[in-house]
Amino acid sequence: MATSPKLDAKIPEGPLHEKWTRYRSTVPLVNPANKRNLEIIVVGSGLAGSSAAATLAELGYKVKVFCFQDSARRAHSIAAQGGINAAKNYQNDGDSVYRLFYDTIKGGDYRAREANVYRLAEVSANIIDQCVAQGVPFAREYGGYLSNRSFGGTQVQRTFYAAGQTGQQLLLGAYSALMRQVALGQVQMFTRHEMLNVVIIDGKARGIIARNLITGELERHFGHAVILASGGYGNVFYLSTNAMGSNATAIWKAHKKGAFFGNPCFTQIHPTCIPVSGDHQSKLTLMSESLRNDGRIWVPKKLEDAKAIREGKLNPNDIKEEDRDYYLERRYPAFGNLVPRDVASRAAKERCDAGFGVNATGEAVFLDFAYNLKYKYGMMEANKRGIKNPTEQQLKELGRPIVEEKYGNLFDMYKQITGVDPYENPMMIYPAVHYTMGGLWVDYNLMTTIPGLYALGEANFSDHGANRLGASALMQGLADGYFVIPYTIGAYLSGEIRTKPISTNHEAFVQAENEVKDQINLLLSVKGKYSVDHFHKKLGKIMWNKCGMSRNAKGLQEAIEEIRALREEFWKDVKVPGSDKEFNPELEKAGRVADFLELGELMCIDALHRNESCGGHFREEYQTEDGEALRDDENFCYVAAWEFRELGKWELHKEELKFENIKVAQRSYK
Ligand SMILES: Cc1cc2nc3c(=O)[nH]c(=O)nc-3n(C[C@H](O)[C@H](O)[C@H](O)COP(=O)(O)OP(=O)(O)OC[C@H]3O[C@@H](n4cnc5c(N)ncnc54)[C@H](O)[C@@H]3O)c2cc1C
Repeated sequence: MATSPKLDAKIPEGPLHEKWTRYRSTVPLVNPANKRNLEIIVVGSGLAGSSAAATLAELGYKVKVFCFQDSARRAHSIAAQGGINAAKNYQNDGDSVYRLFYDTIKGGDYRAREANVYRLAEVSANIIDQCVAQGVPFAREYGGYLSNRSFGGTQVQRTFYAAGQTGQQLLLGAYSALMRQVALGQVQMFTRHEMLNVVIIDGKARGIIARNLITGELERHFGHAVILASGGYGNVFYLSTNAMGSNATAIWKAHKKGAFFGNPCFTQIHPTCIPVSGDHQSKLTLMSESLRNDGRIWVPKKLEDAKAIREGKLNPNDIKEEDRDYYLERRYPAFGNLVPRDVASRAAKERCDAGFGVNATGEAVFLDFAYNLKYKYGMMEANKRGIKNPTEQQLKELGRPIVEEKYGNLFDMYKQITGVDPYENPMMIYPAVHYTMGGLWVDYNLMTTIPGLYALGEANFSDHGANRLGASALMQGLADGYFVIPYTIGAYLSGEIRTKPISTNHEAFVQAENEVKDQINLLLSVKGKYSVDHFHKKLGKIMWNKCGMSRNAKGLQEAIEEIRALREEFWKDVKVPGSDKEFNPELEKAGRVADFLELGELMCIDALHRNESCGGHFREEYQTEDGEALRDDENFCYVAAWEFRELGKWELHKEELKFENIKVAQRSYK
C-alpha cells in the first residue's frame, strides 16, 4: 500500500535512535532578534498548550494564548489523576527508552508511527526533570527518590505521580511558567475566549476568529503560526470522564478548512469508572488506573451469587475466595489486573454480558482492595513491627494508612459519590469513554495538512495508535509542548521572518468572521422546542450503542443514518435562548454540539471502513477465537486521514505505517 501523495509525514532519515538528535542538530533556527517579530497563537492552556506557550515565549516569540475557561489553570488536564510515564528506570526493573517505545507501539496495537513514538520515549525523562525543577511535588520514597507505580500494558514501574492529582500538579507547574511569561509581557492571555474559526491566507494558517464569551464580541487575531492544543473530543458520547466543557470545535473548524482528521474512530474506553446510575447523569467519574496496582478485579463465579448481589441479598465480602472469578488474572496471567485499558474494558463487558454484573443495572464489576490492604500492606507493617500471627482485624488496621497515603483522595471521591466506603467494601466499576486517540493528522513536526497550523496533545492523532496506555497522555502533551514544538515550529518560522503581521482587515479575516456570525445567527434563529442537551444526549446514545466499546457494520450503518437525521432535527428544532451579545453558555454548547453532530458521523464512517479490530476499535466481525481483537495488517496497517469535502462527504487518504524496528505481532498479554 502506498501513502497518499497528500500525506508527507516528514520523518527524518537515519536510524530510529538518531532521528531526533540529528533533527535537532540540523533544523533551521530563528535568531533571537527575529523571534521578537514573530507571533504565535496557541489555542488551549492545558498541559500541551501551557507548556508550549511558556516555552515559546521563553524562547522570545510573541505568544497569544486562548482558553474558554475563566483561568488557564482550569483546563481539563487538571483532572488527570494517576500519573505520567517516563523511561527513567529508577526502579532498576529493566526499563529503557526502547522498552517504553515498544510498550507504546504494542499497546497501540501497531497503529502508531514508529519515529514519533520513539521520540516521545526519548524525551520522557526530560519531562520529569523539567517538572521537578518547576517544583512539581511528585511522590517520593523515604530516602527522597521519586517514587513510581505501574500502569496498564507494562511490566515495569515507570509512572511518576503526585497522589491522585498528578494532572493538577503538572498543570500548576506549566501554569506558573506561563504566568511568568504573562507577567513579562511575552504572552497575552485570553481567558473566556472560544476560537470559532481558523483564518487561512495563501494556503497558510494566519490567525483565528475568537468569541469573547463574556461580551459575545467576535475578535480577529493574527499569528504567523497557529497551534491547536484544544484537547480531546470524548464528549461526543455525551457521557464521558472528560470535563463538561471539553469539545471538538477548534479542531473541527480546522478540519473543515482543510486539516485532515486522523483515525477519528479510535476512542478509549476506560475500564475503571463509576458505573452509570441512571438517565439523569451528565458526567461520569474516573477511578484512576493506578488503583489497579493494588485493587483486584472480580465478579462472582456463580450466576446465582451475582444475582443475589444485584438484588441486595448478598454482601460481596461474604463470597468465599474460591467463589470469586478474578477474570483478568485468570485470562491474562502475565499482566493480570494491569492489562491495557481496551483489553480490561472488553473483559468487563464480556463478564457483564454473560450475566455476572454486580449492580442493579448488571453493568458493574468489583475493584477490591481487601486482599492487598491486609495481606500486602498490613502484613508488611506487621512484619516491620514484629507482630506475630496478626489477626485479620489487625492486618486491616495496619494496612489502611498505607492505602490511604497512596490512594486516599480517590477513595474519598468514591465514597462521596456512591455513599459506599471502599475501605470496607469493594468498589463497583464499569468502562466509560475517556480519551480520543484520533485527532488532527500531524506530521513529525506536529504540523497538520495546513501549513503553519499545528496540533498538540490530545488534539492530534499522534503517538498512541489504536489504544493509549495509561499515564501516556500527560507525557505526550508535555513532550509536544516543552520539547518538540519549540524545535519544529522554528523550522517553519525560519521561513517566515520576512512576513510582516497581516492586517485583520484582510478579506480572509472578514470572511472567516462572517462564517462564524452566520452559524451563530442560524443557531439563534431556529427557536425550536428542544434543548441542546436533548440532542447531545441522543447523539451520545447512538455513539455509545453503535460506535462504542464494540461495533459492527450493521450498527455503524444505522448510526450514520441516525446521526444524519438527528442533525437535521437539531437544525429544525433546537432552542437556544438569549442572544449572542452576552454571556450565553447555552449558545456555546449549541455550537459545540453542532460540531459533534458532524464529527460523530465521520467517526462512524471511519469505524465502518476499518474492517479489522485493533486496540479500542473492536469490530465484532473481526475477533480471534478467544475474543481478542483481530488485526488485518495486510489491508489496514495505515493511519486513516480524512479530508473534508462537504458535509457528509469525506475523502480517505492513507499513511502507510512501516515497522522497521519492532516486530509486528498479535498482541498478547497472556
Ligand atoms: C478524569 C481523567 C483523568 C486522567 N488521568 C490521566 C493520567 O493520570 N495520566 C495521563 O497521562 N492522562 C490522564 N488523562 C488524560 C489527560 O488528562 C488528557 O489527555 C490531557 O490532559 C489533555 O491535555 P491537553 O493539553 O491536550 O488538553 P486539555 O487539558 O483538555 O486542554 C484543552 C484546552 O483547550 C482549550 N480549548 C478547547 N477548545 C477551545 C476553543 N475552541 N477555543 C479556545 N480554547 C479552547 C480549553 O480551554 C483548554 O484550555 C485523564 C483524563 C481524564 C478525563
